[in-house]
Amino acid sequence: MLEGRIALVTGAGRGIGRETALKLAGYGADVAVNYSGSKEKAEETVRMIRALGRRAVAVQADVSKQEDCERMFREVKETLGTVDILVNNAGITRDNLAVRMSSEEFEQVIDTNLKGAFFCMKLAGRDMMKKRYGRIINLSSISGVRGNAGQMNYCAAKAGIIGMTKCLAKELASRGVTVNAVAPGYIDTDMTAALPEKVKEAVLAQIPLGRMGQPKDIAEAVAFLASDRAAYITGQTIQVDGGMGI
Ligand code: NAP
Repeated sequence: MLEGRIALVTGAGRGIGRETALKLAGYGADVAVNYSGSKEKAEETVRMIRALGRRAVAVQADVSKQEDCERMFREVKETLGTVDILVNNAGITRDNLAVRMSSEEFEQVIDTNLKGAFFCMKLAGRDMMKKRYGRIINLSSISGVRGNAGQMNYCAAKAGIIGMTKCLAKELASRGVTVNAVAPGYIDTDMTAALPEKVKEAVLAQIPLGRMGQPKDIAEAVAFLASDRAAYITGQTIQVDGGMGI
């Protein structure tokens, strides 16, 4: 399904990013595995992809830094080739009530979750326009769709992702590039493991399907959007949340 395609997944050493990298490789893509600090985990993801018979490379870059993103795209081009599929997955939380939130907490989340995706879309978009082919999938969140108390920084970034997705979908549609977002609900990763038990129980009670999502639930939606089966879908946000957003 994705044979011959080259994918770059940001934050692919662990969590949703790793599962997505493996899913894309399972469908035939070669994958660049970006990480910021988790070198060993990224190298493990690379080994898992190679075991599937696909090419893979680990690339360190802090996506909040433009020069890191530029170097990352150069390295991917030299090792695997130009990127056909970009998955902007890297993300962080710095939760706090709005009245207590520091500008550092606000900026860190915007810089990684929103600006990081902007830098990568800019860099991937150039090559995709030339090739007249590309798939960009951005990780938003139910928090960006519905809002969530204690996450003003994260809600702003994830709502911003949806806006950027619609903008770039319009800019690149005539060049054969689709741009979509996936908005996960409550997924079982390190990010949610850090939540207090009481919060976890309250969130679970809001999920009609009655369980947390697994990273593979998100990876499957990303892989679909990356495939030719989704060729006529652009500018959309698919909520993968067990019905939480209904
Ligand atoms: P996670 O387990 O906390 O993993 C976060 C990933 O982002 C790690 O691979 C991390 O890499 C990477 N990352 C963080 N800062 C980075 C930076 N500056 N540069 C490059 N990579 C960076 O999170 P997750 O749950 O898998 O979340 C993945 C995405 O889904 C995020 O965008 C998140 O907001 C979104 N999402 C998650 C949920 C959920 O319930 N889990 C819900 C909605 C949306 P290093 O370890 O190398 O730093």
